[in-house]
Amino acid sequence: MGHRETAAQSPPHILIFPIPLQGHVNSMLNLAEILCLSDLHVTILLFDHIHSRLLRHAALQSRFSGYPGFRVATISDGLPADHPRSGERILDSVRSLKEVGGSQFRHLMESTDGLSEGGDRRRVSCLIVDGALSFTIPVVEDMGIPYIFFRTISACAFWAYFCIQDIIDAGELPLKGKNEDKLAYWKRKDMDLMVKSVPGMETILCRRDLPQFCRVEDIDDPGLQTMKTETRITTQGIGFILNTFEDLEGPILDQIRKHIPNLYSIGPLHAHLKAHLDWKGMESLQHHSSSFWEEDQSCMAWLDSQPVNSVIYVSFGSITLLTRDELLEFWYGLVNSGQRFLWVIRPDSIIGTESGNPNKNIPEELEEGTKSRGYMVGWVPQREVLAHQAVGAFFTHSGWNSTLESIAIGLPMLCWPYFADQTTNSRFVSEVWKIGLDMKDTCDRILIEKMVRDIMEVRRDEFLERAHSLAILARKAISEGGSSYFNLNRLMEFLKSTVS
Ligand code: UDP
Repeated sequence: MGHRETAAQSPPHILIFPIPLQGHVNSMLNLAEILCLSDLHVTILLFDHIHSRLLRHAALQSRFSGYPGFRVATISDGLPADHPRSGERILDSVRSLKEVGGSQFRHLMESTDGLSEGGDRRRVSCLIVDGALSFTIPVVEDMGIPYIFFRTISACAFWAYFCIQDIIDAGELPLKGKNEDKLAYWKRKDMDLMVKSVPGMETILCRRDLPQFCRVEDIDDPGLQTMKTETRITTQGIGFILNTFEDLEGPILDQIRKHIPNLYSIGPLHAHLKAHLDWKGMESLQHHSSSFWEEDQSCMAWLDSQPVNSVIYVSFGSITLLTRDELLEFWYGLVNSGQRFLWVIRPDSIIGTESGNPNKNIPEELEEGTKSRGYMVGWVPQREVLAHQAVGAFFTHSGWNSTLESIAIGLPMLCWPYFADQTTNSRFVSEVWKIGLDMKDTCDRILIEKMVRDIMEVRRDEFLERAHSLAILARKAISEGGSSYFNLNRLMEFLKSTVS
């Protein structure tokens, strides 16, 4: 083209704003890439510390260099530059958003005229925004920009969040015992009572499966109230995106549609993106990681040397913290199960150990057992690991991305939910989809040993069959004619219409 495109001729400009956590950024970047593949202009708004981490691992550069329509904008979370934003303080950044987010966002949008960059791009034509970032709404409403919420959690957990007021009205909340440990919850009989006030889940959800922020002393608890309002606000968007698919969560999606009719279920997004890249013949050119931590590739060589389906992959995601006691329970359970294991222990994930180095003062039998059958790393390329033929099951914290990645590949799961939506996800894994076991609230070496054997050997076939069927349905959803394929096209049409 001999001339420069003017803003008026250029494609719609979509602003995507994730909260600064790994799972959220992964989902939003997957969507960003799909939009770039359809030649839309995309700006992803990242907190500057997240941006620096991604740059350090060259994650963004290599992934998006082929997309001229892709840009990054940054804002600050208001914390000092030397704040660790890791380990026990990993969520400080999210908490401080509430204080500084609104003014930062308004300044950014107004001073750059909707991120139009001096006329090269249009002003933002639509905002796609995560949960907990509702401070963006008054700003875009003032500027006349339409907005869509994208919650990166499961539909089942979102629906439980959505019904919090109903659960309170029915006297099923608060659960109390905020400072009790998981074991205390495990022993409480009232935690096994069914929750009757979440439509569609009356025979599924026990009190212990409610999101962890329901474990509060009174209904005025700020965490509970924030979740309630941030979830209800979703109804105000012009549309609502969930990373799930109809054959997985259809009945729950129908419940949500009664309140938010324009719902786009477009998952599993990572698989959807891969399909788009395959259609364009681009897969081999791209590196799709957006990891905050450096990925240790040595685990792939270790997996190569293990028999088919012999390894349980253990990872509790990007936020979970373990006490040293929990670490030892898991370790004994894994070693005593006699199974091979690949275990991700993030450098900042052990409470009370400065370096997070779990290998100090470890009983000899654990060291021996690990040397012969285990491999431990700080962070892995998870989707490659899950797809490796040596991996037979996933021991997970039930984060939604991990759960979907496992479902898409057809792997049974052993669940140790840690917080937020994970307690609900693990219930669905075990009781609705029946593709795994839920350890909920326990952390005991004998039970872990037994459950690891169950998932890898004793009950393997029963879980595997259903996991394979779900994986086939996931593939169908993102293929031509599938529900997620259809919804993504519908979303794309809407985004394109925001400039007409
Ligand atoms: N992940 C990864 N390498 C690891 C552990 C996790 O790439 O060693 C990725 C994983 O594939 C997933 C994300 O990190 O996409 C974690 O998101 P999830 O929603 O499962 O849990 P969270 O970290 O938000 O609790």
